[in-house]
Amino acid sequence: MFSDRISRIQPSATLLMTSKAAELKRTNQPVYNMSVGEPDFSTPLNIQQAGIDAIQKGHTKYTPGGGTFELKEAICKKLKRDNNLNFDTNQIVVSSGAKHSLYNACQVLFQKNDEVIIFTPYWVSFPDFVAVTGAKPIFVDTDSSKQNEPNFNDLKNKINKNTKGIIINSPSNPTGGVWSDEAILELLDVLKARPDIWIFSDECYEQLTYNTPFKSIATFNPALKNIITFQSCSKTYAMTGWRIGYLAGDIDLVKAVSKLQGQSTSCPNSIAQYAAIEALAGNQTQVLEMKDVFHKRRDLILKELNKIPHITCEKPNGAFYVFPDFKYYLNKTINDGKVIQTSSDLSLYILDQTGVVTVAGDSFGAPDNIRLSYATSDTIIIEACKRMKSALCKI
Ligand code: PLP
Repeated sequence: MFSDRISRIQPSATLLMTSKAAELKRTNQPVYNMSVGEPDFSTPLNIQQAGIDAIQKGHTKYTPGGGTFELKEAICKKLKRDNNLNFDTNQIVVSSGAKHSLYNACQVLFQKNDEVIIFTPYWVSFPDFVAVTGAKPIFVDTDSSKQNEPNFNDLKNKINKNTKGIIINSPSNPTGGVWSDEAILELLDVLKARPDIWIFSDECYEQLTYNTPFKSIATFNPALKNIITFQSCSKTYAMTGWRIGYLAGDIDLVKAVSKLQGQSTSCPNSIAQYAAIEALAGNQTQVLEMKDVFHKRRDLILKELNKIPHITCEKPNGAFYVFPDFKYYLNKTINDGKVIQTSSDLSLYILDQTGVVTVAGDSFGAPDNIRLSYATSDTIIIEACKRMKSALCKI
């Protein structure tokens, strides 16, 4: 009944946990949600007001398919100011979130017989974006002790004549890893002879690096036409529900993505586009304030996780996730004789025992790990870690 296309993709992995958590809440049981992929802050007031003004001024109609000229201008200025990147407005497409930008770019570039390299652990949506086009996701290992930088031997072995794209996500969801300049330079060197391979740089978490200032991949070699930069208002400005993201890259690619978008969603939400101009061009103080809070929470969650025996957790330099290794607790028998085999089993066990909601590493291609988001209060972080410890000590 349905097309092959739809059978090639999986439902969002977080859904099961979200519905389980909703069930606990409905029955008035305590829930400690460590699974959220969005800041817990409200959208800053100046941005909210820009949205309200847009409605009142009647900016409630269709806009050009790839976004308004004014927003594209604000994006170009932002890319210059924050990332030292030079783009013209005709190199930008605004979409309904960076997820949509990534999806569109995959649709435009990939098809059957193509291969696209994705680094493991990966953001859950990358393999599906690729698979739905008919292309094949090819997974490359990373080094968890080095911010999940690529295993370059594995990378070199997996590049072949069918390779058409490679997706980079630093800072990373789920690991929080931030690649060093050396790793990026090495990667660009490996790809030097292959200008036909499109390099996707998903920079949604660009404002959230804690040790070193973020460097956009395109700044390493501005002459390269095959790098596509993806950014978003979602995480930086606590605007996940407004749905504004964008890509910057080659003019012909931009035309093709705009054409596809014009024939699908028509344009991104007009009100959100006006709010995004304020976000990108207005006062940036709150971005730094939110980052400061995340930084402190990262240190707090690492300290609390350290109290749990037999798990190891690297210190991630960015985003708002930690990705501890729970291998010790896998393949162990619990009270009722059930065996916890996978990280999904463990994540469900933790939820049932403690009300702590996490996301199993299985869905990120990392079966020994569990993702915890610290985009939540200190109190929840502390209580969740305490509860996980008591549940794990029973195993
Ligand atoms: N890329 C990564 C790595 C993400 O984690 C997310 C959201 O969780 C996105 C893209 C999508 O962001 P947006 O809200 O802009 O669609």
